[in-house]
Amino acid sequence: MNTCIFCKIAKHEISSKIVLEDDNFLAFYDINPISKGHTLVIPKNHIKDFSQLVKKDARFIQNYLQFIERVRQKLLQELKPKRGIKITWNTEGLLEVHHLHCHLVPVY
Ligand code: 5GP
Ligand code: ZN
Repeated sequence: MNTCIFCKIAKHEISSKIVLEDDNFLAFYDINPISKGHTLVIPKNHIKDFSQLVKKDARFIQNYLQFIERVRQKLLQELKPKRGIKITWNTEGLLEVHHLHCHLVPVY
């Protein structure tokens, strides 16, 4: 049985505040934001971590990056963070949730 919390969020089995969504990717606000608008961007299908992402085909990676960019532009327009938006991927021991996600953190 899949107990991954981000898989459940991707299937709308657990609610989240959605920023942007398409068939393959989902952006939603972090439940414990480190700044206003802190957003997580996930592939809907379970990918464990960054090491697994780089094994995917180029088309998938491009689609993921383009979706992240759409989310980034949306946050820039809506929140106008003075210094822009920091994008980070945590890896290994830094990871709390083992379903690939990047953090978009507006910096004011
Ligand atoms: P990381 O794995 O990169 O360290 O961070 C996981 C992030 O997911 C944390 O910033 C945490 O606040 C967020 N998070 C964990 N569980 C949930 C949840 O159920 N809903 C939402 N929206 N965010 C979550
Ligand atoms: Zn998952």
